[in-house]
Amino acid sequence: TAAALEEPISPPVQVSYTQHLINGKFVDAASGKKFPVLDPRTGEAITHVAEGDAEDINRAVAAARKAFDEGPWPKMSAYERSRVLLRFADLVEKHSEELALLESWNTGKPYSQTSTSELPSFARLFHYYAGWADKIHGLTVPADGNYHVQTLHEPIGVAGQIIPWNFPLIMFAWKVGPALACGNTVVLKTAEQTPLTALYAGKLFQEAGLPPGVLNIVSGYGPTAGAPLASHVDVDKLAFTGSTETGKVVLELAARSNLKPVTLELGGKSPFIVCEDADVDKAVELAHFALFFNQGQCCCAGSRTYVHERVYDEFTEKAKARALRRVVGDPFKKGVEQGPQIDSEQFQKVLRYIRSGIESNATLECGGDRLGSRGYFIQPTVFSNVQEDMLIAQDEIFGPVQTILKFKDIDEVIRRANNTSYGLAAGVFTKNVDTANTFSRALKAGTVWVNCFDVFDAAIPFGGYKMSGIGREKGIYSLNNYLQVKAVVTPLKNP
Ligand code: ADP
Repeated sequence: TAAALEEPISPPVQVSYTQHLINGKFVDAASGKKFPVLDPRTGEAITHVAEGDAEDINRAVAAARKAFDEGPWPKMSAYERSRVLLRFADLVEKHSEELALLESWNTGKPYSQTSTSELPSFARLFHYYAGWADKIHGLTVPADGNYHVQTLHEPIGVAGQIIPWNFPLIMFAWKVGPALACGNTVVLKTAEQTPLTALYAGKLFQEAGLPPGVLNIVSGYGPTAGAPLASHVDVDKLAFTGSTETGKVVLELAARSNLKPVTLELGGKSPFIVCEDADVDKAVELAHFALFFNQGQCCCAGSRTYVHERVYDEFTEKAKARALRRVVGDPFKKGVEQGPQIDSEQFQKVLRYIRSGIESNATLECGGDRLGSRGYFIQPTVFSNVQEDMLIAQDEIFGPVQTILKFKDIDEVIRRANNTSYGLAAGVFTKNVDTANTFSRALKAGTVWVNCFDVFDAAIPFGGYKMSGIGREKGIYSLNNYLQVKAVVTPLKNP
């Protein structure tokens, strides 16, 4: 664990794109302003990028509007659009090493994670959406009376998309993939912490032959660049991933401006339930992964670990041992499982929650402090004896802090698991298929993972119940977010 104190390893990659991508060109901010992008290992600047505000959003939306209204993108044959997406995915594979290095540098994620998991997923998502592009079509509808009725599935228009910092490339794919496959044009506002890989991907899209103005990327802060996008009257659809708090803000901006439809993917406090018949060693490993993956910065993190009283002591002991073995350090160092938190704000927030856990008398099994003296590294932390009313059992911590709660029976744990305003995901560990089915039906969550966790696939829909969001991303369900249905009705002369 002394690794965090070592000199940061220089990744062998250069930052080549720092301007906005508008109408197929990299351009400075209208104001000329720039802001720093920080290395989470040190808090020092990696580079400076163009800082977008309302004027840059206006320019980007105008480019997207023109590209939609005048084409060729929405009018191109669907097969040609598919080919562009395929070429892009192939270019991603070709440049995956640089993209993975850049992603790790900007986010602090272990390079082993970005190179073996996120980059392959990123390319896979675009291969998947390329496959949809030429398979989208309407229906003929049997209607009463003498009418021929058909539906046309048309792109909505200009999609405004706002993404967070925890999975910059994956979020790019979940948003941009379906929007482009359906023939829309896009203005993407990246998170202020992590603008770098999206700009690189934007460059690859130009190389793949995407017409100018179809994908525009603006870097900048939420209130000054995100809000003008959410409230722009020329934006026809808004997609947002981020905190529940900001989700409410953008939904309101969308409603007040032009009632653009909104999909939201927001926070969570997902239960991970370990039944008495579970394979405890497997459950410990998966519960550890469910919480600590990506420095604990996952909206679907298994952040309430419910363990049946009969296996609770064994589980807790093993969960603690596993957390103590977790390798924290430089994301570019071999064998490292956990890098720094994204920034000082998140780092301070996680430490505040840890203090709150200690003050509320949860048992601190291990961790509980920062690691080293610079950057945003936090010790893998485990609390046991956590009670429902403690803040650490209720709030989304978004850090490497596992909270273990004890339960007695199934009905009780279902009630407790559902007793939250969130409903993003849930994990269930049991060998009994009846128990598994009972949980799957009863849990109010957009995803239930049984004897597994964080299994993502381009075809599996993802999204939240309750205040975890509106709508589903990925899979066939995501296409509806970017399509308008038009009913065409024609009388039949000779029925
Ligand atoms: P986090 O707390 O994880 O940073 P946010 O919801 O604040 O989550 O951020 C997610 C995305 O929303 C980022 O791209 C951010 O810039 C953007 N954002 C933040 N505030 C606003 C806002 N008022 N209007 C529009 N977008 C915003």
